[in-house]
Amino acid sequence: MQQPEPQSFDRVLSSMCTEPHPAAREAAERFLATNPGDPATYETVASLEERAVELLATLADHPTPADAAGYVTSGGTEANVQAVRSARNRHDASDVNVVVPESGHFSFHKAAELLGVELRTVPVDDDFRTRTDAVAAAVDESTALVVGVAGSTEYGRVDPIPELARIAREAGARMHVDAAWGGFVLPFTDAEWAFGDAAVDTLTIDPHKFGQAAVPAGGLLARDDAALDALAVDTPYLETRSQATLTGTRSGAGVAGAVAAMEALWPDGYRDAVERATANADWLAAALDARGYDVVDPELPLVAAALPEPEFDALREAGWKVSRTGRGELRVVCMPHVTREALRAFVADLDRIQD
Ligand code: PLP
Repeated sequence: MQQPEPQSFDRVLSSMCTEPHPAAREAAERFLATNPGDPATYETVASLEERAVELLATLADHPTPADAAGYVTSGGTEANVQAVRSARNRHDASDVNVVVPESGHFSFHKAAELLGVELRTVPVDDDFRTRTDAVAAAVDESTALVVGVAGSTEYGRVDPIPELARIAREAGARMHVDAAWGGFVLPFTDAEWAFGDAAVDTLTIDPHKFGQAAVPAGGLLARDDAALDALAVDTPYLETRSQATLTGTRSGAGVAGAVAAMEALWPDGYRDAVERATANADWLAAALDARGYDVVDPELPLVAAALPEPEFDALREAGWKVSRTGRGELRVVCMPHVTREALRAFVADLDRIQD
């Protein structure tokens, strides 16, 4: 029987995942049958995971990357759920709440439901960044965690992280940054988003997004061990005594692929990818603006623009994998696989549709 071919990336403009780097693909395949959830048995992949955490911590400007805590998750969702769980477990109150901007990823809704915490959603400003006055008004002594987004899913916006961290600290809460998508872009910008600039406790940063690793490879980082200790449960039948991860058996392929991608690309390869993606986003934003569409000025390489529904539908029919924001704007994520040539073809199709 003929094997099905996976989706080609040629017309994928909506995804936050991308084609893995060849070294990541190769490493992932080699480690397919390993389980970092059982480190006393699968020792090589366990040490690779330590390397992954150190590399991620370097990207996230951790003051001492070799001492950072964290692990390779199944994705940003698991990392966010675990950040909420850790903060809840460390907070000294029974009814805790978590303050999340409305631009926060829907994984925080899953976290709140699973963990029985109240989600306090706060508005964003006219430019889609979290309103710090709204966060300051929402926190109280039961707030376990304040969440800031560094590279929002819909508009690629970076919240004022140092200010949010200050508000969190004053309220006795912890600070989590969701840089699941932005984390591999932001080191090459002036944005203040990481451990170095602010009192950040935990951070989500996913190799399987802009990091060009193979799926599944998300990342949870913590400033110190205490955040992960708060997640640990006893593991009676394993040689290691406790486990802080959410899943038990995990993908060694994800871990090995993440290390291979980061070793191949950090920092020059990622810098090149970010420069190309940024130039592409600026080009697309200008092209859409020139055609009279209302464009949200891109901060990171993600373009949103108001496009009438029939045009959006016609683009989908032409095979373009595009998606919409909650407000209905066209959303194009300029990932490393998105070439200028593809964007030119996309705009040419739009011109044909408009005629
Ligand atoms: N956080 C942000 C900012 C995201 O954009 C996403 C997904 O796009 C997630 C979290 C969830 O990541 P995953 O789909 O890997 O679970």
